[in-house]
Amino acid sequence: MPTALVTGGAGYIGSHTCVVLLEAGWDVVVVDNLSNSSEIALARVRELAPSGSLSFHRVDLLDEPGLEAAFAEGPVDAVVHFAGLKAVGESVEQPLRYYENNVAGTVQLLKAMQRHGVRDLVFSSSCTVYGDPEEIPVTESAPLGAANPYGRTKLYIEEMLRDVAASEPGWRMTLLRYFNPVGAHPSGRIGEDPTGIPNNLMPYVMQVAVGRRDHVTIHGGDYPTPDGTGVRDYIHVVDLAAGHLAALQALDHIDGAVPVNLGTGNGYSVLDVVRAASAAVGREIRYEIGPRRPGDVAAVWADPRSARELLGWTASRSLDDMVADHWRWQASNPDGFGSATLAG
Ligand code: NAD
Ligand code: UDP
Repeated sequence: MPTALVTGGAGYIGSHTCVVLLEAGWDVVVVDNLSNSSEIALARVRELAPSGSLSFHRVDLLDEPGLEAAFAEGPVDAVVHFAGLKAVGESVEQPLRYYENNVAGTVQLLKAMQRHGVRDLVFSSSCTVYGDPEEIPVTESAPLGAANPYGRTKLYIEEMLRDVAASEPGWRMTLLRYFNPVGAHPSGRIGEDPTGIPNNLMPYVMQVAVGRRDHVTIHGGDYPTPDGTGVRDYIHVVDLAAGHLAALQALDHIDGAVPVNLGTGNGYSVLDVVRAASAAVGREIRYEIGPRRPGDVAAVWADPRSARELLGWTASRSLDDMVADHWRWQASNPDGFGSATLAG
């Protein structure tokens, strides 16, 4: 069995990817400091993929001996690197924390990979590296330029990976630029569990649906889009997880550090999402149109052709699947993992 070391494997996208990897016959070694996640997610990953082998190291990427212990469990064939802080507003207030955690954490990870002769990496980048793109759909060759410290950590890590790949032969890296991940595993057992007031649209909509919040504030109704609200490329997290398996399987054909968009190629507006969620939930989700959110772009969606050509992967789940699965998770876990125990 090949072994993948998965950093951030207890998090939202990481936990879904662990299920897909285990189901595909990979052994999984998770490294996560649980700074934004719960060990309960991993217990549920084991429950969803019971025949797979998953071990867990509660370790920070900056903890060199801890990381060594995780690699020593190998031999590790490939690393899937999700671990990072991701809140844009927080990154503006605490930039050094973001650079240390995300950029320095990745430096430590790459050094550990070098020590252990591991040259295969799948990295979580983001469409935020495109900033406000001049052309949509966005291709991987579009100019790069992030608008906030979080986005710049992704940009700098991408540059660093290109430098490392160029410095010695043998590195095979895919830099997966995710668009807007939403949804949850169809079992309703794992899903996104944001702390505090959600920043992102889908968890906010679902917390309104479950009665934790009164209404959704739509950030701007006067964009140059068909209905005036912002347009994004929402992608089901299980499709995204499958994209990581496809990326691992395609590394044989990769040379150096190659960016790949993971999106559906479809743009949906905020109102489209609110309406689809209302239909899935079976009642109106209240909303009000407020001012634009600083830093937001009007519309962005992916050109997903590279993923099809290089990875043999396309997204297959619809917006209705995304809201239905996200709702199942939210309705059966109204407090996220908060009130669950490791026993069940
Ligand atoms: P998440 O917060 O749910 O998962 C990240 C995980 O990394 C958490 O479990 C956290 O505890 C862990 N972690 C953070 N810093 C760590 C460190 N120093 N050492 C060990 N573990 C650490 O986030 P997610 O939504 O699953 O995102 C995963 C990755 O994808 C992140 O790198 C994120 O920037 C990127 N990404 C996310 C989105 C999105 O909208 N969710 C979009 C584009 C890119
Ligand atoms: N949005 C909104 N209300 C919210 C959160 C988000 O109207 O409470 C809008 C936001 O302006 C953008 C879209 O929903 O047009 C997606 O925002 P999100 O924060 O989920 O992702 P982003 O694309 O900003 O990374």
